[in-house]
Amino acid sequence: MSQTIQVDIGEDYSFLREPVRRICEKFPGEYWRELDGKQEYPHAFVDALTEHEYLAVLIPEEYGGAGLPLRAAVAVLETIHECGCNAAACHAQMYTMGTLLRHGNAEQKQRYLPRIASGELRLQAFAVTEPNTGSDTTQLTTRATRDGDAYVIRGEKIWTSRALQSDLMLLLARTTAADEVAKRSHGLSTFLIDIREARGKGLEITPIETMINHSTTQVFFDDLRVPSDSLIGEEGNGFRYILDGMNAERILLAGEALGDARWFLRKAVDYANEREVFGAPIGRNQGIQFPIARSWAETEAADLMVRKAAALFDHQQPCGAEANTAKMLASEASWRAADTCFQTYGGFAFAKEYDIERKWRETRLLRTAPISTNLILAYLGQHVLGMPRSY
Ligand SMILES: Cc1cc2nc3c(=O)[nH]c(=O)nc-3n(C[C@H](O)[C@H](O)[C@H](O)COP(=O)(O)OP(=O)(O)OC[C@H]3O[C@@H](n4cnc5c(N)ncnc54)[C@H](O)[C@@H]3O)c2cc1C
Repeated sequence: MSQTIQVDIGEDYSFLREPVRRICEKFPGEYWRELDGKQEYPHAFVDALTEHEYLAVLIPEEYGGAGLPLRAAVAVLETIHECGCNAAACHAQMYTMGTLLRHGNAEQKQRYLPRIASGELRLQAFAVTEPNTGSDTTQLTTRATRDGDAYVIRGEKIWTSRALQSDLMLLLARTTAADEVAKRSHGLSTFLIDIREARGKGLEITPIETMINHSTTQVFFDDLRVPSDSLIGEEGNGFRYILDGMNAERILLAGEALGDARWFLRKAVDYANEREVFGAPIGRNQGIQFPIARSWAETEAADLMVRKAAALFDHQQPCGAEANTAKMLASEASWRAADTCFQTYGGFAFAKEYDIERKWRETRLLRTAPISTNLILAYLGQHVLGMPRSY
């Protein structure tokens, strides 16, 4: 069935993109390279974005944000990545906030959202993945058990990024045992944990060293007691609450992938035009030029899917297929652009000073997280095309 939803093409949200570009100019390659070498969080960059309220674009005006659609946030993240910066240090607030906004009660929203919008509180940690269950999210085993006016949480999460830099953590935990629920997506609940209160009282956070500077961690819950009003929405419905947020996450990160792809394309084209060997620019060779041209075409095609997914999300339409497809196509376009740029730079791609190898490492993540390509294909095969469940 056809429906009419208007989708802007070309550079939309210039009023956001231009000032974001000006902020990014203050954080050139040297800044990111140095942090990458030391595996340190980009505090100054996150502070600059927070101060200018770009991390609060999705928070409604009544809570101190800009109240803009998801597409505006995509434009912000895409621009950051197009400029060679990395929004991974702070993007989570944009999608985790949605769970609180849509499913939190009035008191919770009033307590947290204005302070998240102002930057007083960081909501950057989203604890879903577990070491033993991985992509099979509904099998997660971290348990939250009601005990009087508290919940007692026991279990373990992995890859909880930014837990050491965040004040709040959105947690998905099981509140009813898997064998006591009709569907395995039931009996899961979402909690907003105050990390500052919890650390050392049953919450331990251990950094994980990774090939990129991502501030990711392993989190241990050892009978952590949290007040019962940490629960967001109704007990047992948490998986449903975070699904909406996951679509937003996929669309936003697809925007980052597009930004990466554009950064790599610009670098590749400039280098192909200026580098001369055998007496001519290397870009005159089809072996150099055509992969770059193909990569541009793939990026433009992915961009259309990202815009479609964001438009559906912003019109409160079902968008699971589009959000997943957008994330898959954009991450593949960015990976192809990264590798093409890498090849175009020859040996110089390996020299850290050009930032190619760093961005190449960074954009690789988007094919694995927040959901890996195979799981997207499994979703499309089963839920969109009606084939048997493959797992
Ligand atoms: C740097 C980093 C940051 C992250 N940040 C966060 C975060 O902040 N919060 C969070 O909750 N998680 C986070 N993650 C976790 C991320 O979402 C998972 O790594 C990802 O979803 C894949 O899960 P897994 O690593 O357990 O892989 P697994 O589930 O073990 O899968 C391994 C491989 O097998 C494939 N596979 C598995 N099952 C099937 C199947 N049925 N059919 C076909 N192929 C299959 C997968 O596609 C994958 O390629 C992060 C991960 C990384 C690396």
